[in-house]
Amino acid sequence: MSFIADALGRIQPSPTVALTGKVNELKAAGRDIIGLGAGEPDFDTPDHIKAAAIEAINRGETKYTAVSGTVAARQAIADKFKRENGLEYTVDQITIGCGGKQVLYNAIMATINEGDEVIIPAPYWVSYPDIVLLAGGTPVVVSAGINSGFKMTPEDLEAAITPKTKWLIFNSPSNPTGAAYTTDEIRALADVLVKHPHVWVMTDDIYEHLVYDGFEFSTMAQVAPELFDRTLTVNGLAKAYSMTGWRVGYAGGPKEIIAAINKVQSQSTTHTSSISQAATVEALNGPQDFMKEWVETFRGRRDYVVKELNNIPGLSCPTPVGAFYVYPSCAGAIGKKTPSGMEINNDTDFVTGLLEDEGVAVVQGVAFGLEPHFRVSYATSTENLENAMGRIRRFCESLV
Ligand code: GLU
Repeated sequence: MSFIADALGRIQPSPTVALTGKVNELKAAGRDIIGLGAGEPDFDTPDHIKAAAIEAINRGETKYTAVSGTVAARQAIADKFKRENGLEYTVDQITIGCGGKQVLYNAIMATINEGDEVIIPAPYWVSYPDIVLLAGGTPVVVSAGINSGFKMTPEDLEAAITPKTKWLIFNSPSNPTGAAYTTDEIRALADVLVKHPHVWVMTDDIYEHLVYDGFEFSTMAQVAPELFDRTLTVNGLAKAYSMTGWRVGYAGGPKEIIAAINKVQSQSTTHTSSISQAATVEALNGPQDFMKEWVETFRGRRDYVVKELNNIPGLSCPTPVGAFYVYPSCAGAIGKKTPSGMEINNDTDFVTGLLEDEGVAVVQGVAFGLEPHFRVSYATSTENLENAMGRIRRFCESLV
C-alpha cells in the first residue's frame, strides 16, 4: 500500500509546469534549447507596477491581509469588472488568490462532491480535468476539434449536461488553441444553460486582453445577465500584465461561492502576497497603454509563426484570434521516423523527437485532450521564434 493518497493516483503533474522545469534543467546542463512551452510573456512587468510594490514594502504593507484580499485590491478588481466587462460586483463578491489556477482550484474544492460532473470543452488547459479529478469529480470532456474552430457547439453542450452536472468550465480566448467565442456564440451557449438551472459556469478570462484582428472579447455573465447569479468570472494579472511570478488571480461571483472559496483558501495559502496585492491596485488602476503595444507585438509574432508552420511539411496551423498560442496539427508527421530511427506514433513522440533532435520545447496535444497536435507559445522574442521555426522545419524535413 502506498503512503501517497489515492487521489494523487488520479492525476499527473502539470505538463506545462513540468516542461518549464525540464527546459531550465537542459539549459543548465549546457544544451541549446528554445522554450516555446511555457505560457509566459517575455515582457518585463511594467515599471509603474513594480514601483507600487516597492512603495508598499517601504510603507510596511508586509503583514497578513484579509483572506479574500485587501479592500483596495478588491475595489480595484470590482472597478475593473464594471469598466471593462459591465459587471457589477461588490467587494464581498470578489476574491483574490495565488494565480488564476488557485482560484479555480479553490472553487472546485469548494463545490465538488464525489461523482459530480464538470463539463470541459477540449482542447482544454491541462489543469482543469486534473483539479476536478483531485476533488473527486468527473470531468466530462466535450471534444471541439479543428473543424468547429476548436469551439464547442450548443448541441454538444446540451448533450453533455446530466442531472449530475455542476459546472461548465469555459475558457475564451483558449489555452491551448487561441480560439475565442464571439458574443453570439456565447449567447447560443447561454441559451442552453438557461434551460438547466442547476449548471453553473466558471469562465477563465485570463487571456481577455490578448485578442487580435479587431476581435471583441465578451464574458458569459455580461452576455447573459440571467446567468450572473450562477457564474464565477475568473481572471488574473499574469498574462496581460506580464506578472506570472506575482501570483495574482481573482474572481467575481455570488457571495455564497466567494465565501466558500475563501473558506478553502483560509485553510491553505491564507492569501496571496500583500506586496502583489498592492501591485494589483496599480496594475488595474494605472496606465494601460503598454498593453496595446504588447498586443501588436504578439499579433506580429502570431502571423509569422502561423505562416511558417503552414509552410512546413506535415504540419497545418489555423490562425487563432487570441492568447499567445497556436495549436498546429502534426498529423502529416505521424507514422514517420526520425533519422535516428525513433518512430513518431503520436504527438508525444513528435515533441520528444523535436526536443531531442533540435532542442525546441513545445507541449504535446494529448495533454490538452486533442491529438495529434502540439502547442506553441509565441510569447518569446522574434529571434527565438525565427530560430525555432528553422529548427522545426529541419526536424520535419528530416522525417522519413
Ligand atoms: N498557464 C500557463 C501554461 O499553460 C502556465 C503554466 C501553467 O500553470 O499551466 O503554460
